[in-house]
Formats: sequence, structure tokens, C-alpha cells
Amino acid sequence: MTSPPLFTDDQIEAGRKLFAAPAVFVKGVVGVQHLPPGDRPEIAFAGRSNVGKSSLINALLSRKQLARASNTPGRTQEINFFDLADGRLFLVDLPGYGFASAPRKSVDAWTRLTLRYLRGRATLKRVFLLIDGRRGVGEVDLGIMGALDTAAVGYQIVLTKIDKLKASEASEIHLGAVAALKRQPAAHPRVIATSSERGDGLPDLRAEIEALL
Ligand code: GDP
Repeated sequence: MTSPPLFTDDQIEAGRKLFAAPAVFVKGVVGVQHLPPGDRPEIAFAGRSNVGKSSLINALLSRKQLARASNTPGRTQEINFFDLADGRLFLVDLPGYGFASAPRKSVDAWTRLTLRYLRGRATLKRVFLLIDGRRGVGEVDLGIMGALDTAAVGYQIVLTKIDKLKASEASEIHLGAVAALKRQPAAHPRVIATSSERGDGLPDLRAEIEALL
């Protein structure tokens, strides 16, 4: 990618420090009545099943196994809360969507728990919506973006697995994602391209999150 630097060295360093601090799994939530108190800022990660969400959360935290594998039975529909830096931030892992064959149906299932959470969560600063760099923004993702727009929850696109793309393909997907965002009122215009395997974009994403606090 040939994007200009997004953040200053100081911002990158602040992001690094935030994510080098202790991260602790707090709880998995299956109903809104079990949400932890909204007593600190929080950011959430969402994306299709298999988009690379667990890998990205673990890579951000430089941990191998903090975010549980999404394909563990019974955990897929939980909202998982992690405390970062001794109470500075909740990092929230939302259920993966789009696993059923019918897009509408899977969006509806995702919507039930997750939208209830999103609508009522005043401390939620931003949702990072993960898009597989090889697939680009799909129909199911657009449905989720529409749901986030309706709930007036600010969100930002993060492309994953860009190590699997040639630079020219990555630029094309990047531009496609930016274009898709122009029609979505709650979307942040900046798209961050990442690879959990190679580390691309992780310092920027950490800095982006730190800047939100
Ligand atoms: P989740 O379902 O969204 O939590 O996805 P996972 O994190 O479990 O990843 C799904 C698959 O994509 C796994 O086989 C990962 O090894 C692979 N994967 C995740 N991130 C990357 C990445 O940055 N690069 C590559 N090449 N593969 C990745």
C-alpha cells in the first residue's frame, strides 16, 4: 500500500503502550442484562465469521490465545469483553455474522443480541468492522453497515489478511472499501489495511484506538 502515514510517531508510540499493557478477559455475554457496567470507554470488533477477527485481536495484543477461536461451539454468539490497561478500555469482540447461507437471515440473527448492545451503549466509541481483503465489502457487510447507520454507531473499516494480496489488488480493494463508505453516514472515511500474520497496519490501528480515548 502506498498510503501516506496516518499517525505521528508519538501517536504510534501511545498506541503501542496501550496495547502492551495487561489485557484480561472479563466475560462473555449472551443477553444484554449481563453486560458489564459501561464505566469506561469501549471499542468493538465486528466481522463475518472467518474474517480474521480473533487473529487480529490477538495480534493487536501480541497474544497468541486471548481472543478465543470463533469456531469454538457455544461461543460464537457471545459478546466477549476484555479489559485493557487496568480499566482504561473495554475491547469488545462481537459475534461473527454471515455464517448461514441466506444473508438476510444471518444479519437478523446477529442483529438480535448485538443491536440491542450497540443501541444502548453510550460508552461505545467506535465499531471496527473487519472486511476480508480478498473479498472486499460484500452484501452481508453492507447489511451490517446499514444496521450500524440506523443505530447511529460510528464505525470504521479494517481490511484483514492483506498479506494474501498483491499490492495492486490491495489498492483496488482499499479504494472499493472507501467508495462503499461514501454512502454510509456513520462510517469513518479512513480504511486501515492489516495483516495479523505480517503485522501490517497494527501500529496504525492501535494508534487509532488510543486516539479515541
Ligand atoms: P474469525 O472467525 O474472524 O475469528 O477468524 P480467525 O481469526 O479464526 O481466522 C480465520 C482464518 O483466517 C484462520 O485460518 C486464520 O489463520 C486466517 N487468518 C487470520 N488472519 C490472517 C492474516 O492476517 N493473514 C492470513 N494469511 N491469514 C489469516
